[in-house]
Amino acid sequence: MIQISPDSIAERFMRYAQIDTQSDPASTAHPTTEKQKDLSKLLLKELFGMGITDASTDTFGYVYATIPSNSGKKNIPAICFCAHVDTAPDCSGTNVKPVLHRYYDGRDIVLPDDPAQVLRMSDSPYLKNHLNSGVITASGNSLLGADDKSGVAAIMEAALFFVQNPAVKHGDIKILFTPDEEVGQGTARVDMQKLGAQFGYTLDGGEAGSLEDETFSADGAVITIHGVIVHPGYAKDKMVNALKVAGAILDALPKQEWSPETTEKRQGFVHPTTLNGIAEKTSLQFIVRDFTVAGLLQHHERLKKIAADTVAEFPGAVMEYTVQEQYRNMKEVLDKHPQVVAYAEEAIQRAGLNIKKESIRGGTDGSRFSYIGMPCPNIFTGMQNIHSKLEWIGTKDMAKAAETVVHLAMIWEERS
Ligand SMILES: [Zn+2]
Repeated sequence: MIQISPDSIAERFMRYAQIDTQSDPASTAHPTTEKQKDLSKLLLKELFGMGITDASTDTFGYVYATIPSNSGKKNIPAICFCAHVDTAPDCSGTNVKPVLHRYYDGRDIVLPDDPAQVLRMSDSPYLKNHLNSGVITASGNSLLGADDKSGVAAIMEAALFFVQNPAVKHGDIKILFTPDEEVGQGTARVDMQKLGAQFGYTLDGGEAGSLEDETFSADGAVITIHGVIVHPGYAKDKMVNALKVAGAILDALPKQEWSPETTEKRQGFVHPTTLNGIAEKTSLQFIVRDFTVAGLLQHHERLKKIAADTVAEFPGAVMEYTVQEQYRNMKEVLDKHPQVVAYAEEAIQRAGLNIKKESIRGGTDGSRFSYIGMPCPNIFTGMQNIHSKLEWIGTKDMAKAAETVVHLAMIWEERS
């Protein structure tokens, strides 16, 4: 029986939550904000403090560490556990004051620094699972940062467990903490060679037991329209205004379907994100999303046809359509290594939880890792209402996430 104490992981999590690590989508630096390194440095110090000597951090803010194998078996794959140190730019991450409600009694939780912020079971029914156990909230003026410091805490607590329980056998365990996940740069400067892991797990998911092995496949598309420009005083029957063509294309898009605001579950969409232009030349940028690559291709064909049909109504206008691959559904990689997800399911069950298999209508660091050599599904930590002032997490879920990490490493050792 593997047991991690909800109280000790709560204390660890609250220590990390107080450090401002907000990332910045407007920055082109790596990391996007220097302050993310404050947590990276603390984590390095704590890893050393546990006696994990093979640990380092770099100028980009990544933390790499290895807990060496203690098994006699030589063929165990190195397994990475990964979480991100940054918090979302959507909500303040400054002066985070985590509040532990040690025995949550089901009543409304009024956040002390802003009584307008009230966490209610009616809005957050998952709170019911945490009656009489620990719930951590922010204090009202900021997010909590359980996304993803709960993942960081779960991995650190599991690391401590391995150090303190050398009789528990495992292969090489690789620990990776990344900056800038929330601004889509979590894998931008990662050194996969240095990491040296064959398979990985991000700890960046919601309800206890949830396991995400599927993400969107994602492309960008740009439609560039070239108009015909002449002096506006003498433009009759000659001028074609690219801005008006772009407007007509946007107007020709379906209004009841095929958009983020009209789709859910496994439906894909196209979504115009940016319009740039002058009368002479205008470009429309789109994101295109689906769970399959075949679906993506259909969306491109359809979008291109709508645009071409519209442009045809403006003789003289010319369009170009270009596609940029962004990321791919991790499932296509994970299906080639079925043990990665199977062992995660078994670990979750050994931790005493029911599995909730989910697909993400977005990408994760794991989808990028899966395509740069490290198949990497996503595991729960318990985080709720993320990126908001009402963010919260149950301490027993975090403990279960750490237990799942321990079980996973044990299962990889047993099966090798
Ligand atoms: Zn996250």
